[in-house]
Amino acid sequence: MSEAYLHRWIDGSAMDRPVGKIVCVGRNYADHARELGNEVPSQPLLFMKGANALCSLHEPLVLPQGQGPVHHEVEMVVMIGERLSGETDLETIRFAIAAYGVGLDLTLRDLQSRLKEKGHPWERAKGFDGGAPVSGFIDARGISVRQNLEVSLEVNGESRQHGHTGQMLFPTFELIAQINQVFTLEPGDLIFSGTPAGVGAAFTPPKWLKAGDRVRLEIDQVGMIENEIVTEPGNTRIG
Ligand code: ZN
Repeated sequence: MSEAYLHRWIDGSAMDRPVGKIVCVGRNYADHARELGNEVPSQPLLFMKGANALCSLHEPLVLPQGQGPVHHEVEMVVMIGERLSGETDLETIRFAIAAYGVGLDLTLRDLQSRLKEKGHPWERAKGFDGGAPVSGFIDARGISVRQNLEVSLEVNGESRQHGHTGQMLFPTFELIAQINQVFTLEPGDLIFSGTPAGVGAAFTPPKWLKAGDRVRLEIDQVGMIENEIVTEPGNTRIG
């Protein structure tokens, strides 16, 4: 039985923030939107994952079985520290951010494509248990998010995703302002801020995550995590 997920600092100590909702952004890097043949949006494309999706990026990653390929999306994750509701002032938003981390927005891409075709919600492809691994967090006061931070993901030493936060169509504070017009944000809520180019579907043939893969995720100033993909051992998950 796996331990219940808790938000943690990068040194592994527990954070004094409750686990809440996860608001995710699709197509927030123009080059990633184009590589999947999508329009570049004029408003952020938002979707959510529940707390059930959270797990530690520092423990071996278990992928769902029998539902098609699981694709990687490395993302900068923002943790909210103060309640925000309908906020538009970017300085207020800046000071309401508690911490930053590295996240992996795991995606059942074939299933997502089928759901999209039918106009159905994406939760089956995005919100499954363990679909939102996150690293330990770094205090926001130590991060200059306005800088152009490099975001990258390697699988078995091969570069797969690479970009800079400066390529975000909706930069962090503006993105949160837009989200906050729809969703009140509470301490401990997370924002997955979108993924740069190089998701598996961009490769010919497509590439995805497999058991035994070694992944390396890095965001300047925020952290570097090396981890391994494992296969779920049968239908034994009970906790
Ligand atoms: Zn994503």
